[in-house]
Amino acid sequence: MFAGDLDMTAAIAELAKSLPEPLRPLARIAFDYRWSWAVGGAALFEAIDPERWARTGQNPRRLLTETQRALLERAAADTDFVDRVERMRSELEADRARPWLPGVASPAHPIAFCCSEFGVHDSLPIYSGGLGVLAGDILKEASDLALPMVGVGLLYRTGYFHQKIDVTGLQHEYWIDTDPDRLPCVKVTGIDGRPVTVSVPIHGEHVTVQVWRVDVGRVPLYLLDTDLPVNSQVGRWITSRLYEGSRLIRLAQYAVLGVGGVRVLRALGIEPALYHLNEGHPALGIFEMLAQVQAETGKDIDQAWQQVREKIVFTTHTPVPAGNETYQRGEVLTMLGAIADMVGHRERLLSMGRVNPQDANEASSMTVLAMRSSRHVNAVSQRHGQVARAMWQTLYPGRSVDEVPISHVTNGVHVATWLRGPMRELLDRYLGPGWLSRADQPETWLPVQDIPAGELWAARCAARKQLTDMIARRGTSDRLRRGEPLDYVEAVSSGFDPDRLTIGFARRLATYKRLHLVAHLPERAIALIGGSHPVQFVFAGKAHPDDVAAKEVVREVFRLKMAAGVAGRAAFLEDYDLTLASQLVAGCDVWVNVPRPPNEASGTSGMKSCLGGGLQLSVLDGWWAEAWDGTNGWAISGEIDGDTQAQDQRHAHAMFDLLEQEIVPMFHERDASGVPQRWVEMMRRSLQTHGPRFSATRMLRDYLAQVYS
Ligand SMILES: *Cc1c(COP(=O)(O)O)cnc(C)c1O
Repeated sequence: MFAGDLDMTAAIAELAKSLPEPLRPLARIAFDYRWSWAVGGAALFEAIDPERWARTGQNPRRLLTETQRALLERAAADTDFVDRVERMRSELEADRARPWLPGVASPAHPIAFCCSEFGVHDSLPIYSGGLGVLAGDILKEASDLALPMVGVGLLYRTGYFHQKIDVTGLQHEYWIDTDPDRLPCVKVTGIDGRPVTVSVPIHGEHVTVQVWRVDVGRVPLYLLDTDLPVNSQVGRWITSRLYEGSRLIRLAQYAVLGVGGVRVLRALGIEPALYHLNEGHPALGIFEMLAQVQAETGKDIDQAWQQVREKIVFTTHTPVPAGNETYQRGEVLTMLGAIADMVGHRERLLSMGRVNPQDANEASSMTVLAMRSSRHVNAVSQRHGQVARAMWQTLYPGRSVDEVPISHVTNGVHVATWLRGPMRELLDRYLGPGWLSRADQPETWLPVQDIPAGELWAARCAARKQLTDMIARRGTSDRLRRGEPLDYVEAVSSGFDPDRLTIGFARRLATYKRLHLVAHLPERAIALIGGSHPVQFVFAGKAHPDDVAAKEVVREVFRLKMAAGVAGRAAFLEDYDLTLASQLVAGCDVWVNVPRPPNEASGTSGMKSCLGGGLQLSVLDGWWAEAWDGTNGWAISGEIDGDTQAQDQRHAHAMFDLLEQEIVPMFHERDASGVPQRWVEMMRRSLQTHGPRFSATRMLRDYLAQVYS
């Protein structure tokens, strides 16, 4: 059905051959990330060899090739296990046999979802944070909805960095090489049996690009890769690191993703019904589309542009001007001169990326290029829509802010991925068979009202216990590795209490996310931790390697660590990734989000936390501005203030006020059976109001109704 099917089949057959006969269906399961959100999927692989499963980073292809034969034979002799394998395989086949959703797209003309990063699973390390995780969730949801879609991205050979923190709180980065031959992906070959390649002219070189396919359920994700011996060393480096530090290499990445992406789809025989550009990085593909239309129809560039626009939709994720990268004339022409030549003349490429096309001194921006070239532009929350319309009004002269044609589709999260553990079991029991496919309907969540408070509370406590066990293990190894004093090391496992109010703060550590608010009023933080009703904090997050200010924030938080009681009631867990995120959002009672308004386009980690029964304490920015109704969480005001220091001070006080005066007392107000009734009622409100609205099911249905059709 999709290019690369034969390569997939061959790779599966090859892996199957190496397995004991009864386990052969596992090869099929391993080459489709659907296992990662299917109930019992991960458990199948884990059961074979738990140690190795962890050591391979939960990579099923590696597990099946690296596990000792004796362990495979043992699993093959276990008839219960073999039955489970067989059931998972038939579930997968049945899923694939469902008819495609009719409408805008078809397998021959799918939606091409193009993005610089995809957060599908930790074993595929080609994401850094929210943008990628959202992209991964969109592919998974498209698969669940049987919406014909293909993903287009880059296969970074060393991905995003990993994080180590030293005893002073300073972040260090390191990179790990990925070998694509050990990932659950295949190199796509043509009918001649040779790898499909395209070439992209960058910086005087014809860079050769090959393509890999990863299956995310029914959605093939095509990943472009320049690490080929025919390329120069610089050419090979282009797809090495995600958000590579060098500006010019990043520009080269955008050329590979954009121009290379459009060329690869054509080489694979895929003619998209629509290109969905997720953020500006793939926007250079517009030039390849223009060149194709010009070559085929003889149209001039303006007519061609009209035609191309009909096939492009664009989602912007960046609410601050500085977040939209711009490039100077010299940089663009050096790197992309030959790409500009494809459409006739070089000034055109430069001017299409400027707010004022005539201003030769203005730098060019991928976001502007994408906006000008799309038939529909959307932001990712209601508030972000308002912010984006004001921010980009200059692109639409003569229109008032309200008339700026930027709509919004609020982000959502893939429920089957993010709802885990005890809360998943509980909701599966109460919400009825097949409820996940109805997750976007408010009625689906009504039975939450009937779940006895004791059961909801028990699920919450069980989830918190899983989290504190993990914090003890991981906190201990983090501290040992840092070379901390032994009593400080041991404090984390003796100090974290499974019954104590647990507050989480984990996200990309850009300064606007304001982790520093926690350390801003140290005496209040320490009082909370050591009070009569003590709380415990867990932190995680990575600062971009070049973001010196964000790294400094981590050090600020670390300075608190020697205060009395803190060692056992606060932990910073290193190397935030999808797995850690899913453990944190599932286990924390309160999820804190305090971005500086209006910098948070949407935010999604809080939505994940809601699914696990976590309650939100958040600034009214991004998704929370449209989600909070006074009964389903706690809010800090979302005003914009140029005096950021005064605002930080106010917001830090507001946060601690809520914690001290409302959150801590409510958590400890128990009935005779030990259940905090008001707390549980707020959990119910949170699940019922946020569950349907912030699911990826609702998000993708919105895209279908408002953007794609
Ligand atoms: C969900 C997620 C994010 C995005 O969270 P925000 O709320 O947008 O900060 C970032 N990183 C990982 C690993 C995630 O799972």
